[in-house]
Amino acid sequence: MRKQIVAGNWKMNKNVQESVQLADEIVSNVKDLALDNTRVIVTPTFVNISEVVKVAEGSNVEVAAQNMHQAKSGAYTGEISAEMLTSLGLKTVILGHSERREYFGETDAILAEKVDAALANELEIIFCFGEVLEDRKSDNHFNVVESQIKNALFHLPVDAWKNIVLAYEPVWAIGTGETASPEQAQEMHAFIRKIVAAQYNAEVAENVSVLYGGSVNPGNAKEIFSKEDVDGGLIGGAALNADNFIALIKSF
Ligand code: PEP
Repeated sequence: MRKQIVAGNWKMNKNVQESVQLADEIVSNVKDLALDNTRVIVTPTFVNISEVVKVAEGSNVEVAAQNMHQAKSGAYTGEISAEMLTSLGLKTVILGHSERREYFGETDAILAEKVDAALANELEIIFCFGEVLEDRKSDNHFNVVESQIKNALFHLPVDAWKNIVLAYEPVWAIGTGETASPEQAQEMHAFIRKIVAAQYNAEVAENVSVLYGGSVNPGNAKEIFSKEDVDGGLIGGAALNADNFIALIKSF
């Protein structure tokens, strides 16, 4: 049975003290929840990861990274390798976030390399993709999503998929306050499962967790998460406040 996941993407927010405090609040609130089939993940910015790892140690809150470089090591000033993440005990990395694509020029080809580097280091990947508004308006959203997934992930062997989580994040809904309707999310998630099944098999498609991201908040989460093919959310803004984040975890 595939896992439900609530993952908080803290982006470039919170200094070290604030990160520790937020992690602390989340850890102590999540401690008493029965999270049988639900994973809780937080992703602080790189400089604060070590401190947050200490706070989360031994708890049921996982810490992940927001990005990584595709090279093993070397002259890439300012970058972080997969091995650096695993050396901190991290098990998961987000790749392909629309902000990485838009502001840092991450193409499908670069993302395919990052995917390979992460998997070579036994990192699980939360792989983000989604259409911009013009694609949705011109009814091109299914094609865009299919090509993003195909170009970065469909070269993988079938057994690599146990380390893949998919995150559908329509760009027009990220940080805008505008959410895809639960029906729009369900429609896209079902489509995603269909193309994964066609490329691999029904078992892979059934077992991969597919998260929705884009202005999820405590007011709309329950309805979105209740959809058959929605296995939780990748959360930006609402993940920066412990009460909101805990409310989201309780929304299944
Ligand atoms: C995100 O950045 O992944 C995201 C979904 O942000 P928000 O929840 O703020 O829209």
